[in-house]
Amino acid sequence: MTQVQLKNLSKVFSGTPAVDAINLDVACGEFLVLLGPSGCGKTTSLRMVCGLEQPTSGSIWFNGQDVTNLPVQKRKVGLVSQRFGLFPHMTVEQNVAFGLSVRGMSAEEQMRQVGEMLEIVRLSTFAKRFPSQLSGGQMQRVAIARTLVTKPEVLLLDEPMASLDTLLRTEMRQFIRDLHDEYGMTTLLVTHDQIEAMDLADRIAVMFDGKVAQLAAPDEIYQHPANEQTARFMGHSNIFECARTSEKHIDSPYGQLSLGEASARGAVQPSKAMLRFESIKIGECRETPQNNAFSGTIKRAEFLGAMMRYTLQVGEGSLTVEEASTIKRKIGDAVTVTLPPEQIWLLQ
Ligand code: ADP
Ligand code: MG
Repeated sequence: MTQVQLKNLSKVFSGTPAVDAINLDVACGEFLVLLGPSGCGKTTSLRMVCGLEQPTSGSIWFNGQDVTNLPVQKRKVGLVSQRFGLFPHMTVEQNVAFGLSVRGMSAEEQMRQVGEMLEIVRLSTFAKRFPSQLSGGQMQRVAIARTLVTKPEVLLLDEPMASLDTLLRTEMRQFIRDLHDEYGMTTLLVTHDQIEAMDLADRIAVMFDGKVAQLAAPDEIYQHPANEQTARFMGHSNIFECARTSEKHIDSPYGQLSLGEASARGAVQPSKAMLRFESIKIGECRETPQNNAFSGTIKRAEFLGAMMRYTLQVGEGSLTVEEASTIKRKIGDAVTVTLPPEQIWLLQ
């Protein structure tokens, strides 16, 4: 197994940095996801780890060894690119065997290993087909098989699910995670899809403009984002102006709010606070006011299938709340809104 380290890694294209001094430490056997919007430098980072792109500055280390100037074929890496890159004139079998044949392996041994690999990706019955006769999901699995058959110690996946439809994506996610768990290779996957990242990753590195904004476990990034940009990128939330009035309190457009223990880890002098849609509780109007409970009125209701999304007028502000759609509420209903202190996160 291989530990991968990126040290102050930069890539500049005609004067503009695509990757700007990033530092990453990927543990042996870890599944790390590079997540960020299009153009933030994910592919370029992956291509540098692979050896397809030479860094402008900085270095790449595998197991404590500097591999920055090592050619691709000496790095024991496997890259599955976004467009699969299958050879159209070769059958599935021949595509998967390609990486082995260039290494001078005997035809018999090649076929044995290819057969085994096709079984793993559940494509044995498709061995004689050509890529044009396969679905997107099957092509995807051939591309993965072709990479895995070379037994890479570091697996690099560039948006492997991008061209698949939603249902297939979920299935492929499980497949990729299972493969990783079975073989234990260090895996770096690139995506712009935060759900995919949260589902797959041991840790996520969130990237914006060539820089890593945060590196942490998925739930930590979702609940405690390092800044507003990360908070917004990681899913829906209420982000509102606030000012600290004491160690455990902030002023907000809704009124004074108590903070929980976890909030202490957030910004010391916050200008904004965040609360995820699903963290807020709504209930019938009650007489006795509770901690962080306010009166509100439903202004808008959106049916999202499993969930209802309500926009509420609360004090001088508005709050968006998501609740199971099994509960029925109407526009104009007066409700009590509770903002759990533990769920309030302070942003710089
Ligand atoms: P991502 O994969 O996150 O979408 P990329 O790494 O592909 O981002 O690109 C990062 C930035 O670098 C983009 O602005 C892109 O236009 C630029 N870029 C990538 N490759 C090249 C190249 N070969 N020549 C010039 N600019 C490039
Ligand atoms: Mg890309």
